[in-house]
Amino acid sequence: MKIHTIGGYDEVGKNLTALEIREDIIVFDCGIYLPAAIDLQESERNPTSQLLRNAGALPDETFLLKNKNKVRAFLITHAHLDHVGAVHHFAYKFPNAPIFGTPFTIEILKSLMQDSKQQLKNKLISIQPGDSVMIKGANTSYKAEFLNMTHSTIQSTMIALYTSEGIVVYANDYKLDNTPIMGAPPNYEKFRKLAKQGIKVAIIDCLYADTDRKTNSEKIARAMVEESLLTVDHGKNGIIISTFSSHIARLKSIVEFSNKLNREVIFMGRSLAKYTNAAKKVGQCPFEKDIRIATYTNQLKSSLKRVEKDRGKYVVVCTGHQGEDGSILDRLVKNKLHFNFKSGDSVIFSSKVIPAPVNISHRAEMDKKLKQKDVRIFDEVHVSGHGGREDLRDLLNLLKPQHFIPSHGGFDKTMPAMNLAKEMGYQQDKTAHLCKNGTIIELR
Ligand SMILES: [Zn+2]
Repeated sequence: MKIHTIGGYDEVGKNLTALEIREDIIVFDCGIYLPAAIDLQESERNPTSQLLRNAGALPDETFLLKNKNKVRAFLITHAHLDHVGAVHHFAYKFPNAPIFGTPFTIEILKSLMQDSKQQLKNKLISIQPGDSVMIKGANTSYKAEFLNMTHSTIQSTMIALYTSEGIVVYANDYKLDNTPIMGAPPNYEKFRKLAKQGIKVAIIDCLYADTDRKTNSEKIARAMVEESLLTVDHGKNGIIISTFSSHIARLKSIVEFSNKLNREVIFMGRSLAKYTNAAKKVGQCPFEKDIRIATYTNQLKSSLKRVEKDRGKYVVVCTGHQGEDGSILDRLVKNKLHFNFKSGDSVIFSSKVIPAPVNISHRAEMDKKLKQKDVRIFDEVHVSGHGGREDLRDLLNLLKPQHFIPSHGGFDKTMPAMNLAKEMGYQQDKTAHLCKNGTIIELR
């Protein structure tokens, strides 16, 4: 078999890895490179696939196009845009390859298609976490298992693909969370069973392999949300919380503790509406009756007028934790919406600044403006969705793959994973492989 590391090995984003085995190619993930897409969106609200491709926001399609008739399926692990966000700009070139993902992932894909008016002829097939499917090859079939894995969005999976040359495991992205707030813990029993059967190769997210830690459970983030809401005397002041729209478990904690304060929760903005509605459609939105969603300008206007008048009765949840231009929080801070911050109001960032220069400077500017208005800031009420060095060690020990390919970033991310693998007995270039975009690893 050959593993083609096509995207996500030179950057954090546009994840795409392809397995080539005889007459068949099976694709894992098909994500977008968000910084390039966002740059483009500043000039084009709905950039075309071609514009995105030219801007380097999509994975390179050259190899797959050359082998168009061999592409059998797209297997998508979870609903984050750097894993699913390129599918509708990409898969139309391979209309015979069905797209498989968990129901939430497929729902998000459908909404991306709707937003961009980019339709697909490919079959979209929902797989419940824990279930498996058969993929038809030229002369054989492949079983693909979508195993429960924990991360920072719901219905995330690790995929195990059974081939005649061994099992391929794709764990991009993951954390090992034994007490997730939604969904089941990782399916350790199954992981051990796979290890016993013998895993040929595992491709594993190493975003934080350079961090000496075991990433904390989402239950810790829940406790942090509780602290910031219930142990602080907010009185009748305003509370604005910003977090990741796709983080349904985090939103659940935010809504539940806000309700304990007897405050009504209003979600503001299109992005929160998109992910919350997708969660509703697949029966994974436990707080749907406890929130109101304001999406359109007039809804935002009337909601914010109410909040402005009676700020002790509401919690506003919105996007903008990275200081993004034009986000709801950015517009609130710049007095572009019908709300004025007052001394004593709080902004809770249930997030962490993604360390790119643009985010750091945007957030610094936002925080400065908030402080000028005498607003209280609660930063990093958050735990990550990605495993650290000790999670990687545990996962490698659990899976015991014959070969290991670190993924989810350039050498700055994958080299620390390689160093750990070497400590654990792997040999660089023989059983552990550092890849760039376009590398081909042939395994016998
Ligand atoms: Zn992710």
